[in-house]
Amino acid sequence: MSLYHDEDWKTQLKSTITNVEELRQQIFLTEEELGVLPELIKKFPLSITPYYLSLINPKDLSDPLRRMVVPSIDELCESGELDPSDELSITKTVGLEHKYSPTALFLCTDQCFGYCRYCFRRRLRYKKDSSNEVARDFKAQVEYIREHAEIDNVLLSGGDPLMLPNEILDGLLGDLLSIEHVKMVRIGTKAPVFLPQRFTTDPEIISILKKYSSPESRLYIVTHFNHPREITGESSDAIRLLNDAGVFVMNQSVMLRDVNDEPDTLAELFNRLAYIGVRPYYVFQCRPVKNSTHFQLELAESYRILKEARRKMSGLAKTARLIMSHSSGKIEILALRNGKMHFKYHQAKDPIDHGRFFSLDYQKGAKWLDDLLPKSA
Ligand code: SF4
Repeated sequence: MSLYHDEDWKTQLKSTITNVEELRQQIFLTEEELGVLPELIKKFPLSITPYYLSLINPKDLSDPLRRMVVPSIDELCESGELDPSDELSITKTVGLEHKYSPTALFLCTDQCFGYCRYCFRRRLRYKKDSSNEVARDFKAQVEYIREHAEIDNVLLSGGDPLMLPNEILDGLLGDLLSIEHVKMVRIGTKAPVFLPQRFTTDPEIISILKKYSSPESRLYIVTHFNHPREITGESSDAIRLLNDAGVFVMNQSVMLRDVNDEPDTLAELFNRLAYIGVRPYYVFQCRPVKNSTHFQLELAESYRILKEARRKMSGLAKTARLIMSHSSGKIEILALRNGKMHFKYHQAKDPIDHGRFFSLDYQKGAKWLDDLLPKSA
């Protein structure tokens, strides 16, 4: 076991790999990578915790964990969109998105434990200053939620909310859950994946989360495991501490080319998540994000892979749905039959679409809903 595994999370965070020279000392980089990485990380930062780096095979250029965090020459491709889910159009005040009536999405930081090369919010890091998209003092955002009685749940995201200092997160959770109509808060975080020591070496954060996990105010942690090798003794310990504190833990994965695009890999991931107390929730079709479209699979491939994986999963692991987080809503990919792909809106920007089933002629090569829609003249 690496010495990193026992280290306090703040000490580890200080040792995070953020430049090419540090990375070159730890893993093999090709001449081509050494040539382009300095430019690529000026645009979207490199950040790998010592713990996560210790899970990567330093000699294997095609290691799936390496692929998620080490910049690739493919990022030079400029296809894709900066804001593929059109989040700016549903932003009500800085850092507060309100797309579906009962749910507020709160971008409370632009900092992460590590930066995922496929991140759909890359744009937050493309600007020197993200203060027009990320909440800073939280007052206006809490006020908006207080004034909208239809909001019964808040999703804290960013960035990674667990990057906030404990006292700030405590205050924010307290403010949100003291609003009478807010019944639950979800925290989207990759801490169990990139730095499980955030929980295993900090009893205070566990006490804070426990304080807000009661029948009156329900707290969910939504994790983001993409590969079974990310499930380690440390991440399992972190999940156990969260479960013991009464926090529900769910997982969202993204289907990524050359990372988890094999039925056996996905089946192992979801089975093992269920074993350690995490409920698989969504598998997202990778969005057409600018500079990371090389991670996308064809819709038919994603559908086939999850369908085959489900045959190898236990009932408790089969709970994940294949979803496209489209600008018009959360759309489940239900089936591909006789040349048609069938969909259902789980959430819709326009309430009239909520729960609507629809079918479209399938076109080979389609990777996103827009590839199947008639082109406007
Ligand atoms: S942790 Fe989440 S927000 Fe941060 S880079 Fe990864 S996907 Fe993006």
